Amino acid sequence: MMTRTARRNPAAARTIITIDGPAGTGKSSVGRTLAVRLGLDFLDTGAMYRAAALLALENNNSLDDADGIAQLVREADIRFNWHEDPPTLLAGDRALTSRLRDADVAKAVSPVAGLAAVRRELVARQRRIGEAHPRLVSEGRDQGSVVFPDACVKFYLDASASVRACRRAEQIGEFDPAAIACIQTELVERDRRDETRAVGPLRCPTDAVRVDTDQYDQQQVVEHLVEVAFDRVPVLRDVLHPVAAGA
Ligand code: C5P
Repeated sequence: MMTRTARRNPAAARTIITIDGPAGTGKSSVGRTLAVRLGLDFLDTGAMYRAAALLALENNNSLDDADGIAQLVREADIRFNWHEDPPTLLAGDRALTSRLRDADVAKAVSPVAGLAAVRRELVARQRRIGEAHPRLVSEGRDQGSVVFPDACVKFYLDASASVRACRRAEQIGEFDPAAIACIQTELVERDRRDETRAVGPLRCPTDAVRVDTDQYDQQQVVEHLVEVAFDRVPVLRDVLHPVAAGA
């Protein structure tokens, strides 16, 4: 049902934009900036899978213990604190954010993300977030294909493995060619796992706008996505120019 706010201001109606794609395509940075530009909230679903992997490591669960890890996610009530900017990820009262990018978590996340019971639990949580935050940019691997199939705009960001590895290396200040080659091998392996799992595999939704980011910097990608979003959902411009739109 449309809320009173939505009737008064059509820009307040449900507006979900999804961004999917493999690791290292800049989805998170691009998604966050896109959300700020369009006045939408931002959901980093990778953080939720990383949190599930971290809980499994902390509790010494085997990484194929689907029911056990899903139970940990439920008990810890993995969720975001939306009062922080960016929102922090909580398990109980504990903020997990600072641990989520550590190497042990990065290694464990892909096997954990392949477990059907864990995906069921996290997909349900993501849909509930979509209800509570109906104006949302949601980023992950299955956001357009599984979680929000009715999203009004879907993007799929891609880039070659070598470009993605170089971007990751730059982020962490790594310039040794052998280390960069290692990063590339890990990215390719993670993609392979993400693409071949039985549930919620990484897929470009058929109705997604595919963007190859090899030749473009982050700002150029954001500008392109903003233009596509305006084109598909013209009312989004009103958020940026409320006076002109109301005139
Ligand atoms: O995006 P990020 O690199 O933080 O994601 C970490 C991992 O979480 C991915 O490699 C993938 O295995 C998993 N993931 C997923 N589905 C999502 C988001 C992330 O399977 N929607």
